[in-house]
Amino acid sequence: MNIIIFGPPGAGKGTQSKFLVEKYNLYQLSTGEILRNEIKNSTNIGKKISSIMDAGSLVSDEIVSELIEKIISNSNYKSRIIFDGFPRSLKQTNILDNLLKKYNQKIDIVLKLSVTLETIKKRISERKNLEKRSDDSEEIAIKRYKMYEKSTEPVIEYYKKLNLLKVIDGERSIEQINKEISDIMALIEGWL
Ligand code: AMP
Repeated sequence: MNIIIFGPPGAGKGTQSKFLVEKYNLYQLSTGEILRNEIKNSTNIGKKISSIMDAGSLVSDEIVSELIEKIISNSNYKSRIIFDGFPRSLKQTNILDNLLKKYNQKIDIVLKLSVTLETIKKRISERKNLEKRSDDSEEIAIKRYKMYEKSTEPVIEYYKKLNLLKVIDGERSIEQINKEISDIMALIEGWL
């Protein structure tokens, strides 16, 4: 089964993806991580994108789709991918649809971890007290949260219309969220 996971920074997307990977033997395709690795390994793509990523801008759809296709076309990962960080726009949603069709796959479920800005702020201030971080981290995190919510809104709407969207209340404990996700997975596995 292929999954897309959405959630603003600080929502616990990393923790839940890890849980899914381990429990269901899935492969996590994080575009941010793949792109950072290209830079780290100084590949041709890495050289092209390092300044774009440093500026916090989005990498071109051509580059991202080339990297994504490598994974989708790999039979080792067939129908066991968690998409994290992609798609980020309706254009990318369309790219993903076409790639999945090409390799005879589909999206089975879209999970959105929903957390309020208030909770994100609270989590940051708790961390700040622990790690004695400066105030800038809160400002940056608020900006990233708002940007994330705004940019993913049309994409989320798209999957909602297709009846693939499950909104998970990310305000609860990690274990409670694990449990809700497991219940959803059990339902889907029943359908497949
Ligand atoms: P992330 O780790 O998902 O926050 O991504 C880190 C950076 O990687 C972003 O700021 C973008 O520069 C780039 N990136 C990640 N995913 C995408 C994507 N789907 N499309 C374009 N750029 C992306």
